[in-house]
Amino acid sequence: MKNEQNRREFLKNISGGTLAVAAASVAAPVSKAAIVSNDSGKLALLGGPSLNTNKVLGKKWPHIDEELIESVMKTTKSGIWSRIQSANGTVATFEKEFAKQIGCSYSVGTGSGTQALSTAVLALGIGPGDEVITSPYTDFGTISAILTSRALPVLVDLDPESFQLDPDLVEKAINKNTKAIMPVHIMGLPANMERIMAIAAKYKLKVIEDSCQAPFSRYQGKPIGTIGDLGCFSFQASKAIACGEGGAVVGNDQALMDECFTIQNRGASRAGKNETIGPKYRMNEFEGAVLMGQIAGAKERFEIRNANAAYLNAKLSEIPGITPQKHYPGTESGSYYHYGVSYNKASFNNTDRAVFLKAMNAEGIPVGSYIKSGLHREPWVDHIIGLNDYKTMYSAQRLKEYKASMVLPQCDKICNETLVSFWGSGILLGTREEMDMIVNAFAKVYENREKLASVK
Ligand SMILES: *Cc1c(COP(=O)(O)O)cnc(C)c1O
Repeated sequence: MKNEQNRREFLKNISGGTLAVAAASVAAPVSKAAIVSNDSGKLALLGGPSLNTNKVLGKKWPHIDEELIESVMKTTKSGIWSRIQSANGTVATFEKEFAKQIGCSYSVGTGSGTQALSTAVLALGIGPGDEVITSPYTDFGTISAILTSRALPVLVDLDPESFQLDPDLVEKAINKNTKAIMPVHIMGLPANMERIMAIAAKYKLKVIEDSCQAPFSRYQGKPIGTIGDLGCFSFQASKAIACGEGGAVVGNDQALMDECFTIQNRGASRAGKNETIGPKYRMNEFEGAVLMGQIAGAKERFEIRNANAAYLNAKLSEIPGITPQKHYPGTESGSYYHYGVSYNKASFNNTDRAVFLKAMNAEGIPVGSYIKSGLHREPWVDHIIGLNDYKTMYSAQRLKEYKASMVLPQCDKICNETLVSFWGSGILLGTREEMDMIVNAFAKVYENREKLASVK
């Protein structure tokens, strides 16, 4: 990038279609100003015009349409507000539809993704004295679902390129009390399930997929959430299928799925027998009604997000220092709850990520650092070590080792230095022009990296 000619070539290659469109609309020869129509080339952070002047990108989220409002009205008027009032009410209908669309035999609705995960932990008989291996880079609901059963969430470090569990470290963390692995498909892209399933088979462990961010993602010919023993989804307002608060467990084993139903129904089976210990996690009919409205267009939105993400992956990987989230072999699609890349400041004149993010935000691109700190750094670790429940069920030596294991440098680096992402649910539903704007912002900041040296 020694001279202006090279610079223009570089931006032309990256920004593709936009360049031509913008050039045509201003009827000017291709120049610096034609990267996008209002770009002078000067960073907005340093007083230039912002690339995205409307400040909105993509679609408003959650998705709301007439069909959804109709669906809620219908439930309201019906007076069937709890799922036990009818065997084929809205929740029961949604469960069938969700299982069908995901591509599995059964689904059971719950009040949240956290409740779905907790149901799975309970249904697999995991409790005090047991250990579950999972990721430190996730929503706290993942950990919470293990803790509410008084089992021990064992956190292992990440593959820095995928932000997913590192299978080698999973295998090293297994001991005689390990009962399950709970991979998290972070950002909605598949974790390394081939390795995780092989390890689970070798040590006879259960696998609960935290698929809360990954509905419809596919890996090696299978839908995410159906590869392990049970898969769990979240319908919280920010997620790709949203109803405010909601969740579901999915699976293909009828007996295990019946157990999931019984557990989330505070221990009472479908036949009405009070059989076991279970919290009341039932999804209500209003949540089901919103979901019936949402599920209608969910696959189509998934496809749009995938196409836009594939476009960004191709364009952004041409920019030095920007590496899109790694896909493991066999990844066929992703849900892109967040669209994430690794940022390497060495390629950006050693500009700290915080300054890079400021420069991007000034261009009107809402990128951020996503999860602020790994869950191994949060107060719950010391809290549980001090609890009688844990002191009774785990030896002092085990709890000491446990505390010492909370050193996860790859996760720290992702949180503190490398991860750059934006929320995909609404933004990735944007137009190709909007995707070009995102690419252009990355390219513009890259081009101006030397000018960022003075920014704090
Ligand atoms: C959202 C989420 C959860 C928790 O789901 P809730 O519906 O918010 O309880 C768990 N794990 C992951 C990876 C999530 O993204």
